[in-house]
This record gives sequence, structure tokens and C-alpha cells, in this order.
Amino acid sequence: MDHFLYRDGQLYAEDVPVAEIAAAVGTPFYVYSTATLTRHFQLFDDALDGTDHLVCFAMKSLSNQAVIKVLADAGAGMDVVSGGEYYRAKAAGVSGDKIVFSGVGKTVDEMRMALEGGIRQFNVESEPEMVVLDRVAQSLGVVAPITVRVNPDVDAKTHAKIATGKSENKFGIPISRAREVYAMAAKMPGLKVIGIDVHIGSQLTDLAPFEAAYLKVAELTEQLRSDGHEITRLDLGGGLGIPYARSNEAPPLPSDYGALIKRTVGHLGCEIEIEPGRLISGNAGLLVSKVIYIKEGEDRQFMIIDGAMNDLIRPAMYDAYHDIDPIIESVPGAEPAKYDIVGPICESGDTFAKARVMTEVKADDLIAFRSAGAYGAVMASEYNSRPLIPEVLVNGDQFAVIRARPTYEEMIGRDTLPTWL
Ligand SMILES: *Cc1c(COP(=O)(O)O)cnc(C)c1O
Repeated sequence: MDHFLYRDGQLYAEDVPVAEIAAAVGTPFYVYSTATLTRHFQLFDDALDGTDHLVCFAMKSLSNQAVIKVLADAGAGMDVVSGGEYYRAKAAGVSGDKIVFSGVGKTVDEMRMALEGGIRQFNVESEPEMVVLDRVAQSLGVVAPITVRVNPDVDAKTHAKIATGKSENKFGIPISRAREVYAMAAKMPGLKVIGIDVHIGSQLTDLAPFEAAYLKVAELTEQLRSDGHEITRLDLGGGLGIPYARSNEAPPLPSDYGALIKRTVGHLGCEIEIEPGRLISGNAGLLVSKVIYIKEGEDRQFMIIDGAMNDLIRPAMYDAYHDIDPIIESVPGAEPAKYDIVGPICESGDTFAKARVMTEVKADDLIAFRSAGAYGAVMASEYNSRPLIPEVLVNGDQFAVIRARPTYEEMIGRDTLPTWL
């Protein structure tokens, strides 16, 4: 559920007409709903009610300072995957003991930054990383709390580019070698083993792979305890999917997911952490764009819009589907049209949808891509020298620009000429 609904024939973001935002900031832009962000966080928090837990928002899905602040104020911790994300979390006021550091390639500088600024735990993904973290922690005279990310070798049944829990993926250590690796960690004075971490992929629309992974984690918890390790925290990752197409069957709800967690690992008495990203931010955002031209092709119509693959790369990168709606609601009974919806970039991959049947639109009309909050703005680039597009946050009847569109001067201002030119 989200807060982008039609009222009196036009699309609103909470209590603000989307057209009003477009008039104020220009197109294209992203707009996020505070109510949707907090509602989705709350669904997870409620789903784990009765167990000691922390819901850590996977910031990589949407990392604007204002969004982090909204979720942190609601009680969320943060899952970060880079020094930049750690810096963003701290800058938004998140305390170090609510920040979890994930990722396969943490550098010495990133480790030092987190150890100095405070960290809830590092999710360590390899033996070499463990060796380096131990050394960095000792050099600072501190002890780094860690979990080891295990790769349970389960098929998440999602897009290959976002599956992370199979043995062929670069993530974690094989669960079959976990006992050996934990034994090694226990001997390192700069590390304190506190738990186990697992994350098997993103946009999972079925609970079965989670269940398979969590059962393996439960078994491993008991083995590690019998080996003498204190396992008090389980980080179960993120990955619960969202409905991108209103015609599709809805994926499982956070409440079903929470029940599954309690059923599979609840008896272990561990503190539970989860790291949802997409389910919190995905349906909390729209990408709003304007139609530039309707172009008649030989056997199709092209809708050429001012948004492009540099603004929203998911269709080009993951063959992703987004529902696309006009800002002015279609009148019942109106004859639909069929479009290939494309951006202005000089690549055929700059295609958002093919043969999409939707309300007829004309030049200058506004359209909205739904479910664009996650992995949208954060993956944007300035390819084709198209400045990063603005982000807007709505809260009830108020809206504010939370990242402004850079001017061309600002865009090129980071380039510098070498002295010899
Ligand atoms: C990407 C990622 C997440 C979030 O995944 P979603 O599908 O957005 O919920 C959580 N944890 C880790 C380690 C990740 O890499």
C-alpha cells in the first residue's frame, strides 16, 4: 500500500497534487511519501513484536539524508555498505550502535571510520577481511563486534543480478566452512564474535528460500554454540519483494515474514536483526516525467519522455517492470493506446517499457513511474550530461526539495583542467 492515489481525477502524493510539485521543481523528479516510508518500517517492526529486534534500513536502496532521518526518527537502525553510507547515517543523526556494516570489500579506511565513530557490528564476509579488521581494531585499541556472513547455497529464485545466496555468488563464506572460520575468529583479540549474518538476495516473492536459509542458520547457531561460541544475534538480511505490477499476485507480507522468522529461529533466544531496503522505500517513491514527443514509428508509437535510463536504470539493468500512470486519471471507458516508452539517451537500452497499453497521452502530459523509490535515485548518474534529478519529500500537505537539481555550472564544476591545458 502507498500514499499515491487519485483524487478528483488527479494523482496526489499524500495531500499534495503531483502536478503542483512538477510546476515547482520541473521534471523529471523523484517524490517520496513520508507516510509510506514510516508505514512500511512499522510493518516490519510490528512483525517482530515480542522478540528482541532491530530493523535496519538498507540505505543502499534510498539514501537521501531526509529519508534516513525519517526512518531513524521512527526507530530504525541502518545497514550500510560503504564509508559514504556510514557517513550519511551518522550525518543524519543515527548513533553508531544502530549501524550495521555489510559488504564484501570493506577497506581499512572504512573499518577505521566505523570503529572510531561507533558501530553495532561488522558483517564480515571473508577470512582476509577478518584478518584486516582484527589488525585495524587492535591498532585502535578496540574490539570489533562481528558476525560472519554465511552463504547458505539456496536459490532465491530472483533476477540473477540480485541473487546473493548461491555458492557461485561472491557473498559470504560457504556455510559448510563456517565452523572453521568461527574458530579462527575466536582466536583474534581484535574481534568479538556475536552472531551470524545471512542475506540471500533481493526482490524475493516467495518465503520458501528464506525458510531454507533460516533453518540452516538455526542449525549452525546450535553447532557454533556447542563449539563454545556465544551466538546472541542473528542478522537475517533483507530481500522481501514488492509488487511492481498491480496485475501480479502480491508477494508475502512483512507479517508473514515475521511469523516465518519466529518459527525458524525464535527458539534460539537471539536478538533478531533484519535489513529490508526495497520493501520500505520501493513503493514510497514515484519518478515523475513529462512527455516530450509522441513519435509514430513504422509499426508502433514511441512515447519519448524527459526521464531516461540515467535517472532510473532498473528497466535497462534488471529488465524491471514499473507500472506507469498518467497524472491526470483516465476517464472510464476511454480507448487506451499502446506505446514503447523511451528516454532521450542515445542507447536502445534507454527503454522503459515496450508495447505498454495505457491511457492515451500527448506532449507535455505528466506520467508517473510507480514503485521507483528503491534503487532509483541512488543508482542515477549524469550520463549524457543530464544533471541528477531532484528529490522531493512529501509529508501530509507539505513538500520540500530534499536534493536540488544541479545547474549545468555545478555539474561541470567538479571537473578541473590540468595545468598544461
Ligand atoms: C541489498 C542488501 C539488503 C537490502 O535488500 P532489499 O532487497 O532492498 O531488501 C540487505 N542486506 C544486504 C547485505 C544487502 O546487500
